[in-house]
Amino acid sequence: MELGEIVKGVEQTKLSYLYDSYSTSFEAKVLNAVHEQGKSWYVVLDQTLFHPKSGGQPTDVGELVIQGVKANVKKAMLVNGVVVHYVKLEKELKIEKGMSVRGTIDWGLRYKYMRRHTAAHLLDHCVNLVTHRINKTLGSWLGEPTYVEYQGIFEDVLLKQVEEKANAFISQGLEVKTEFLSKDALKEILDSPNAERLPEIQVYRIVQIDSFEKIPCGGTHVKNTKEIGALTLKKTEKVEGGFRIYFEV
Ligand SMILES: [Zn+2]
Repeated sequence: MELGEIVKGVEQTKLSYLYDSYSTSFEAKVLNAVHEQGKSWYVVLDQTLFHPKSGGQPTDVGELVIQGVKANVKKAMLVNGVVVHYVKLEKELKIEKGMSVRGTIDWGLRYKYMRRHTAAHLLDHCVNLVTHRINKTLGSWLGEPTYVEYQGIFEDVLLKQVEEKANAFISQGLEVKTEFLSKDALKEILDSPNAERLPEIQVYRIVQIDSFEKIPCGGTHVKNTKEIGALTLKKTEKVEGGFRIYFEV
């Protein structure tokens, strides 16, 4: 099944998790539903709390309840600004446009990704501080194993310093703030570390820890650095054009 076909002519999904990362349940309407095979369907909703795999953050999983039938959400995918939920029903049901849905995300998994995501931004800041330069982000993965990746070179002897700085900021309990910007307003801060990796969406969200750099980000974050807990930097690794730092929270 072509995902592009499923989202054709469907309006962009309201990404409710951008406005409240701590919400776990929501009500929505089916905008499109395409049968795959057996009890598996692709479902598009008008809004969702399921964060799709994007920006290095893995997909949320959880469940949708449609007409009293439970559907396990195996993954959520972002296609042209539309979130497609790939679900497996527990009983046969013909899912149709206009049906009401109650969705619930797996909070344990989500909260882990929130803590890791905020930790990744904190690492961006601390790597810059310790190396005395701006290190452009090449990528990150907040699943297993967890890492951030930067352009340039890095000396392993600095890893402990980065870890100490990050843990000091964590224990200070710094506020994590978010604000929303249009694409134009965003251009003013386009020298941010991950500017080239932004998804194609209408409104951009800026995430800022305390008074650190403003980072465009569509991910989910904790409200306070204390929630990250202890951060451990495992090792570094050379990658094409840069380096990777593996971490755990
Ligand atoms: Zn981010």
